[in-house]
Amino acid sequence: MHYVNSKSILSPKNGMNLYRGCTHGCIYCDSRSEVYAMGHEFEDIEVKQNALELLKRELIKRPKAMIGTGAMSDPYIPLEKRLKHVRKSLELIYRYGFGFTCITKSDLILRDLDLLKKIKEKTKVVIQMTITTADDDLCRILEPNVCPTSRRVDVLKTLNDNGIPTVVWLCPILPYINDTEENINAILDYCIDSDVYGILCFGMGLTLREGSRNHFYKKLDENFPGLKGKYVKEFGNDYVLPSQNSEKLMGIFKKRTSKNHILNDNEKIFEYLSEFPQKTIQSKLI
Ligand code: SF4
Repeated sequence: MHYVNSKSILSPKNGMNLYRGCTHGCIYCDSRSEVYAMGHEFEDIEVKQNALELLKRELIKRPKAMIGTGAMSDPYIPLEKRLKHVRKSLELIYRYGFGFTCITKSDLILRDLDLLKKIKEKTKVVIQMTITTADDDLCRILEPNVCPTSRRVDVLKTLNDNGIPTVVWLCPILPYINDTEENINAILDYCIDSDVYGILCFGMGLTLREGSRNHFYKKLDENFPGLKGKYVKEFGNDYVLPSQNSEKLMGIFKKRTSKNHILNDNEKIFEYLSEFPQKTIQSKLI
């Protein structure tokens, strides 16, 4: 890891990247793409050493809103155990009356359950978690350095038991790897059991760009011999790589989420994530 001094911490839409780079090792990671111009090795995490002072300054002057973590890292990387930048940010978010949402694959988030509950009492918290496969062995290949799916499901259940709503990202679905009816049904079983509020799904497929494509193909060669040739033949340098089973899998997804009253409309889920409960704040001020 390395430190930098940053000029800003919050985007205009209240997104916060405390870290840039990630060590979870997902083979399909889009944040590795050249388009983000990371400027350093992806696993060499960039830490904004003045992040907490910048955040405090911004929270004092901005209108109350949901603060979300950005896509340049999972906020709960192992480094967070030691640095506690997310935890200290949550303390500031609580103190200044903002809401919080983040997307993670890590059970480290449960370390901060006490603070998440306090923020939720005062304003709003929603935790988003990615699940790509119901098979823990496959998960250890696709996302090798973070807890496997069964543990993520424990986390979803714990959050739900503590009154914290959750949203699952069902993506990416990799052609010829996790694009099976069995997998989608098993993930949906997990989501139904965990009583998730919504599931974000952008179609059954994968996107690859310069930077992420090379890494993905290298990992295919290491873990799925022969599959890279099939991908190159079928998709070339395409950005979107849809599963051949897309239609059938989307049908299952829509039918089962609707039947179980799980929100499946991406636009509505994003609205829900960004809505800040103004009434709560007003009533607490009266
Ligand atoms: S958790 Fe997200 S940012 Fe980290 S490696 Fe996986 S896909 Fe990339």
